[in-house]
This record gives sequence, structure tokens and C-alpha cells, in this order.
Amino acid sequence: GYTVRFAPSPTGYLHVGGARTAIFNWLLARQSQGKFLLRIEDTDLQRSTPQSVQQILNSLRWLGLDWDDEVFYQSKNRSRHVEVANHLLKKGKAYRCFCSKEELEEKRRKFEALKLNQRYDGACRRLSPDEVQERLERKQPFAIRFKVPQGQIVFDDLVHGRMEVDNNTLDDFIIVRSDGTPVYQLAVVVDDHDMSVNLVLRGDDHLPNTNKQILIYRAMNWQPPQFAHVPLILGPDKNRLSKRHGATSVEEFKERGILPEALFNYLCLLGWSPGTDQEIFSRAELIREFKVKRINKTAAVFDEQKLLWMNAKYLADYDENSLIEMIRPFLSERGITEQDLRADERLLYLVKLQKIRSKTLTDLADGLLLYFKDPERYEEKGVRKFFLKETGLSLLNELYAFFKNQTPDFYDQVERIERELRQKAEDMNLKAGQLIQPLRLALTGSTASPGIFELIYVLGSKKVLNRLKNAIN
Ligand code: GLU
Repeated sequence: GYTVRFAPSPTGYLHVGGARTAIFNWLLARQSQGKFLLRIEDTDLQRSTPQSVQQILNSLRWLGLDWDDEVFYQSKNRSRHVEVANHLLKKGKAYRCFCSKEELEEKRRKFEALKLNQRYDGACRRLSPDEVQERLERKQPFAIRFKVPQGQIVFDDLVHGRMEVDNNTLDDFIIVRSDGTPVYQLAVVVDDHDMSVNLVLRGDDHLPNTNKQILIYRAMNWQPPQFAHVPLILGPDKNRLSKRHGATSVEEFKERGILPEALFNYLCLLGWSPGTDQEIFSRAELIREFKVKRINKTAAVFDEQKLLWMNAKYLADYDENSLIEMIRPFLSERGITEQDLRADERLLYLVKLQKIRSKTLTDLADGLLLYFKDPERYEEKGVRKFFLKETGLSLLNELYAFFKNQTPDFYDQVERIERELRQKAEDMNLKAGQLIQPLRLALTGSTASPGIFELIYVLGSKKVLNRLKNAIN
């Protein structure tokens, strides 16, 4: 089985790109009866926060991604990283670099002026043991640099195919900074090795890092894992998906009423294709069908409309009782109390009417407000058309009298409401629409709503009369 990991840096929310990486890893672990490990790469103490760790864990849980073993915190493993660096030093695979920041900066400027390439010139690589000893005795601070050997790095990326690079394109890169902190390149190799990770699947912005990491594996005589680098997610303008394009974090999608299974399904299709036209996949199907070989090499464009379409499909599959539960937080944000929310039959019926008109849970919550709240204002265009005219007002008065005269059982059957209202229109010499439109505006404040007869059933006698009265005044 695959032992894979998701290794986010806790410097913000979980981005959908990261979420997709996590999902792909999770699918591979679950389909191969392997392990999905979670490693928080919190070595950047300036930028890492415990809040971000919590947000990332919550978002993963919300997506239904469970991890095996305890969460692993990279910062706790620092001494092990340094131990490996020291081992590399001892074996002559790394060396101490005593160059100060100023010296390095100076060299860089000189090279730049000469239009030479700006890599480290390896000055400290050539220090004799005595020179090193002397500097150590003077307590001169040093970083540890990896000694890039001659040769080539070749590996077969499961997405991009064969990758080849000549070692002489790489600098002797730093693995431990002069303040004693190990760098990412070292920490990631040591941890992946120690955690027995055998497949690293991550964003292809990490491709250049892979070269350096493979060199560290070789120097340690460790077997490198397989690599699969997944293309980035782009916005509609083909730039890397960012805040500018709208929602980018899992948390934001949740707040906007996207369902976790819809986001999960959608992200799977972003950069992976099953090779068929199928778009809606259950989790079990995805576990079965997902293949690294079918991940696209080219970047995928995030298509919000498609996500909304998919979300609407998942949403419409839920029964009304479940939906009421799911939109509780959204209703409470809109001022609806638990008290208001006793799931009575009429409310459930409205959920049924509105769920097919809603793309998100927030749409649905908005669509239920007409049940809880009398209209506070009336759509202008409708008012001009239906209310202001003399006939509009007398019509509303007439309708009020009509509803007032009904016995309570009138409101129990949609068919009956429809029959009698149509009859009423006929009696008044009106087309049904001439009666329905002002009525809809009076009851909802809007010129668009679910069917009026259903709506009257949903609202019941008290609300209908009350709202008509308000519209008349
Ligand atoms: N912590 C790195 C990041 O968030 C990922 C490291 C990796 O996957 O190797 O970009």
C-alpha cells in the first residue's frame, strides 16, 4: 500500500489547491489500504500559528479526510534534522560555510555586475581542515551547505514523466542556517524517510525542490519515494487561483453553503479525469477509480459555475428533514431562532419547493426567509405595476375578504387553493395572472417566488391575512 502524507504549512487557511492535494493523497491511501499521514510543517515560527493549524484540521475533517496516526508536528523533530545534517558533515557530503550575509551579498552583486550566474561560488567548500578548525575556535558562526556532487538527477514523476537535470545547475544549497535551524529541503526528506513515505504527491511548484531532495536521499543512502507533482489550480484569467478570483479557502466555501461532498467531488475532477463522461462520483467510486496516471500535466482552471452546478445536484438529493438540520447555522445567522424552527409540515414543504431552486445552503436559507419574515419592502418594479393603481388596491381588499372568508381547511390542500383562486379570478373577470401577480408581491415582497398556490399552503391563514393587510396599508 501507499504511505502518503499531506504536509501543509500552517500559515493560513486551507486553500482549495492544498485540499485537492490532500484528497488525492487520501484516495491513494484508502484504495491501496495504505496510510494517509498528516504532517504540520510548522518550522517557520514567524508565520505559523496555532489558529491556522486548527483551521486546517477542521477543514480536512469537514471534507471527510481522516488521517492515520497522530498529527506529526515538524518543529518537534528539529534535533533529528540537525543530527542528519551532522551525519552528512561527517561523511563529507556537506560542509560548513562561514560566509557572512554581507560577504554573500557582496559576491552576489559582483557576479551580477559581471553577468555571471549568481550561485554560491563554493568558497568554503575549499577550506582546509585547519582553516575550518581555526574558524571554529574563533567561534565564527556557520551554516551547513550540501555538497552537490557531479552528475545528474533523473527520476520518473508519475504525472510529468521522466525528469532530468544536470547537477551543475544547482548550487551548494544550505541545509542548516547559521542560527542552527534546519531548512525545509532537509526537514522534508528526513521526515518523509522516517515516516516511511513511499509516494510524495504535491503541487508541481515543488518540482525544483525535488532535485535537491533526491540528492539528500542519495547522500544518506536512503531509497527516495516515488513522486507525483500535481499542476496548479488557476483562476479564469489563467493566473494562479488567488483571493482576487473570489473564494479560495475550504472555509469560505463552507460558509457560502457548499456541501463537503460537492467540493470533494469537484476538486477530484480538477486536474484528474476518469476517462469517461461521468462527473458525479460517490466517495467509494472515487476511491476505486482514482488513478495517478490520469492526472493531467497541465494546470486546471477553477470553474465556480461548475462547482455550483454540482452542489445543486448534491443538495437536491437530500431529504427535507436533513436539509433543515444542515441550514440551521445559516438560518441563525439570518436571525431565525431555534424556537422558530420547529420543523412543521408547511416549512418542510417549502424546503422541498426551494431546494430545487437553490444552488447552495445559503440560497436555501434565503429562500426560507419568506416563511419566517413578513416582507419589509416590496420590489419597486412590482409596486409600480400592481400596487399603485386604484384597481391594485381594491383587488387586494377583495382578496383579503376572500381569504378571510375561508374555513381553516381551505389551507390544507394545494389543489383546492388553486381551484378556488382560479374561480375567484374568473368571477372577477380577470385572468389568473392578473390576480396572482399582485398577490405574490403582497405575500413575498418579490415578483419571483415558488408557485403561488403552494406558497399559500405553506404560509397558512394567519400569515396570508397578515401580509395582505400590511400590503394594503
Ligand atoms: N509544507 C509544504 C507546503 O505547504 C509542502 C511540502 C511538501 O509537500 O513536500 O508547500
